[in-house]
Amino acid sequence: MNAKIRLFVEHALGPGQSVPLTREQAHYLFGVMRQGTGAAVSLFNGRDGEWRAVVDEAGKRGGVLRCEEQTRDLMMPPDLWLLFAPIKKARTDFIVEKAAEMGAARIVPVQTDFTNAERIRQDRLQAHAVEAAEQCGGTFVPEVAPLQKLDRVLRDWPAERRLMFCDEGRAGDNLGPPAAADAGPWAILIGPEGGFSDGERKRLVAMPMSHVVSLGPRILRADTAAVAAMTLWQQALGDWR
Ligand code: SAM
Repeated sequence: MNAKIRLFVEHALGPGQSVPLTREQAHYLFGVMRQGTGAAVSLFNGRDGEWRAVVDEAGKRGGVLRCEEQTRDLMMPPDLWLLFAPIKKARTDFIVEKAAEMGAARIVPVQTDFTNAERIRQDRLQAHAVEAAEQCGGTFVPEVAPLQKLDRVLRDWPAERRLMFCDEGRAGDNLGPPAAADAGPWAILIGPEGGFSDGERKRLVAMPMSHVVSLGPRILRADTAAVAAMTLWQQALGDWR
């Protein structure tokens, strides 16, 4: 039976493997969740699937778990990146959390012409992705990349990766998601509160890997748009089919 508490750990997982806990994990498991020696916990590390483990040692500042049996194989998400322009803190956190839950393989914050944020807390956003994976039963955690200029990202764009460009300028037009036959590596691009500049729009539309999409007749907030776009893509090409 799967344990109720799930923890992401950096350590390798395998039969009989001892896994040390960080101070924060020990505080959570023994302080907040009131668990002790013998308690069962599910562990995953993004590489070795999910393992049922038991608490061998429990302390205030640390502890040790021991893997007993594998309960799930590693399940990789489809090869989908989510590119988005960071917005206000809570809404950016929401986008990262939802992207991890919904099955993004990589999350790439980009600075566009109208992006207000100059910097992001990459470590905090990565922690949100870990928490989302712990909570949703995932065995993989998407990497949150450092903030990069959109211009630079597009200059280095891998030729084989298609881009679902969510363009608020085309809201309401008959521009649906890609067809199931367009399988392969993909990315979704969501703009900031101020939308895309004319220069960005021209450049994106002209790129051969672009697939322009309308997310309906209303202008959605960026966080809503990210969830809507991922839903459409997952349904058309991803692992929801
Ligand atoms: N300020 C912009 C405007 O008034 O036109 C709205 C930007 S919207 C809040 C943020 C992002 O969500 C957009 O850049 C786009 O990527 C996406 N988005 C929102 N609604 C959309 C729609 N109906 N179709 C396509 N993309 C949309």
